[in-house]
Amino acid sequence: MSLVQKIPCDSPIVGIQSLTAIDFPGKIAGVFFTRGCPWKCRYCQNPSLSESDLKSSLSRNDIEEFLRSRKEFLDGIVISGGEPTIHSSLCDLLAWVRDYGYSTAIHTNGGFPEMLRCILKKRLVDYIAMDIKAPPAAYDRVTQVHNTGIAVSRSIKIILSSNIDYEFRTTYHPDILSEKELIDTMRAISCAGAKRYFLQRFRTKGVMDQELVQGGDVVTIPQAAINEAQMLFEEFEVR
Ligand code: SF4
Repeated sequence: MSLVQKIPCDSPIVGIQSLTAIDFPGKIAGVFFTRGCPWKCRYCQNPSLSESDLKSSLSRNDIEEFLRSRKEFLDGIVISGGEPTIHSSLCDLLAWVRDYGYSTAIHTNGGFPEMLRCILKKRLVDYIAMDIKAPPAAYDRVTQVHNTGIAVSRSIKIILSSNIDYEFRTTYHPDILSEKELIDTMRAISCAGAKRYFLQRFRTKGVMDQELVQGGDVVTIPQAAINEAQMLFEEFEVR
């Protein structure tokens, strides 16, 4: 089968970042942004992607041109969003990107464990970065959608039993998570077996929630949480 035949017909990609040195550890990568996410986190930096429709998808020619022309400069492609795992064409997309010789990574909210299981079973990604938004009891409050914590717990187990390189990360804003909830979040993911974990400062760029934006980019991560994380994880950073 030729590469052209393998390109997914219903491309979920609505944007491309041509270069990143921070989203795929050890790789210089491009980022493909997929449309749509059913969750409603207040600190979402890409809310416009949740509302993108099929008409805003990049054409297969545009994507193919990017993959061909960047082959000499990029090691990998990150599929981010929105939420990539809501798209049934994700496996084909990842396989297609890998056929060009790129390493692949996905960024996910972990809300769709069956797709995740499929991707990992077929070894279609080299790296997975998953958000851990809250301790289990507070998950639905942060995502503003019912039953998200249950799916996330399943995704955590799938990732940790896959032997695929990973990171878990939590974005912190004091209006969304209390200090205790942040520490409970870290304890829960550590208890599940996670070794690599990052705390991310809230950033205003792209965020639509004006109450959060008004406070600016200056969010201090509680020192008690940093101290706890340093004890819990083999690899930890604030970023
Ligand atoms: S899960 Fe991610 S993409 Fe979806 S609303 Fe939350 S922050 Fe935005």
